Amino acid sequence: MSPWIDKLKYGLESLLDLLYPPLCLACSGRIETSGDVLCLSCRSLTVPTGQHMQKDNEFVRHFEGRVPVAAGAALYYYVSGGVVSALIGQIKYRGRKDLAYKLGLYYGEQLRESPLFHGTELIIPVPLHPLREKKRGYNQSLEFARGLAESMQIQVEEDVIGRKRHTETQTARDRSHRAQNMQDVFILKNPEKITNRQILIVDDVLTTGATLDGCASVLLQAGPAQIRMATIAMGY
Ligand SMILES: [Zn+2]
Repeated sequence: MSPWIDKLKYGLESLLDLLYPPLCLACSGRIETSGDVLCLSCRSLTVPTGQHMQKDNEFVRHFEGRVPVAAGAALYYYVSGGVVSALIGQIKYRGRKDLAYKLGLYYGEQLRESPLFHGTELIIPVPLHPLREKKRGYNQSLEFARGLAESMQIQVEEDVIGRKRHTETQTARDRSHRAQNMQDVFILKNPEKITNRQILIVDDVLTTGATLDGCASVLLQAGPAQIRMATIAMGY
């Protein structure tokens, strides 16, 4: 889609939000606090990490000694069976890409206020394998990235990294082996676009860190000035 159509679409969406106030992303109930994405009761069942205001946090520590991460943060902690895991399920398996976009808009407002994220120039969503994206109809990380980009007033760059082949099941692999394996699935496409730029790599969930690690390691070859990372959720 052209940026012009995107702008028009998001403009219309904001107008609709005025006419029809947004509902809780998790339960579709009324939102009591303006500017929030969840109602009070759903919010009480989530745990925001607050990591965007902490330079040294457990998100960043996932990548210690592997990738230099200037700042990293997840919006929520992910608990199996909880509100956030239900949101992620809707986003990944129920076609609700709009939820990823709205969470991006919401989190972007917070990242924009964080000195740790100041200076970010480009947002790079972790690509899905083309076959999986075709099946799902979208890349949820790109939708989240678009929301972030809108709030942070920076650009999404989709054309610097792609995926080579389907990722194998990795349960039996150790962490370093897995990271190496993930590095092999990504391919750098237009390195000059990020050379000396401050980039923000975006994924949906941080679990072992292998995906973001692999993606960042490949992007590092292009010589970005700084790497930051953000996800919707991370495991406890
Ligand atoms: Zn709710």
